[in-house]
Amino acid sequence: MRLRLFALAIVLSCYGCAAPRAGERGAFLSGSDHLYRNYAGLAEAARLESACGGCSADAAAQCRLEETVQRVAAVSRQQGTFDFRILRSTAANAYSLPGPRIYLTQGLYERLERDDLLAAAVAHEIAHLEAGDSRRQRRGPQDGLEREIEADRRAAELLAAAGLAPKAMLDLLAEIREELRAADYEERCARLSFEAQLMQPAQRARPPAAIAAA
Ligand SMILES: [Zn+2]
Repeated sequence: MRLRLFALAIVLSCYGCAAPRAGERGAFLSGSDHLYRNYAGLAEAARLESACGGCSADAAAQCRLEETVQRVAAVSRQQGTFDFRILRSTAANAYSLPGPRIYLTQGLYERLERDDLLAAAVAHEIAHLEAGDSRRQRRGPQDGLEREIEADRRAAELLAAAGLAPKAMLDLLAEIREELRAADYEERCARLSFEAQLMQPAQRARPPAAIAAA
């Protein structure tokens, strides 16, 4: 299975403003290390895009995805300028690759009408990027599950830091429940429920006086 090479981000059991044009890679990249970021993960990106039917040209969706990526990336440890695309595949899935690159399939994007659910999907992928998961080979199913659970936990943390409710991560798991294997779903929800209860969105955590002064 070639997709297994991406060792990623199998949808939460696994997610601008110009629409990408055919053959235009790295359109959102800039900066002194442009060349490095442009080519890191490029071969994997090409294989993924090919396997998923290419990238969507939906400019509105690309804009919404950009706003979400920027909001979550602003509170993450991940360095670099993000490249992000929507793949034409109808299967609900998301991927992260070195670059950093984030992909959501059309099948997943269309299910995420709520902005906080989209943010949760993006946060989960950014958590994988922070952990370097796409560069590390999985050491079996349990290792894969532990990475997903850690990405869920970190995603909830990123949502809170971005002023969003961490519970959105749980809602996302429920939304894509049928995409997850039963054991994964139950264990991930059980582990995330505890974490999410401890976290509060940054806005709500601020004292009333600080909010009034803002
Ligand atoms: Zn994942």
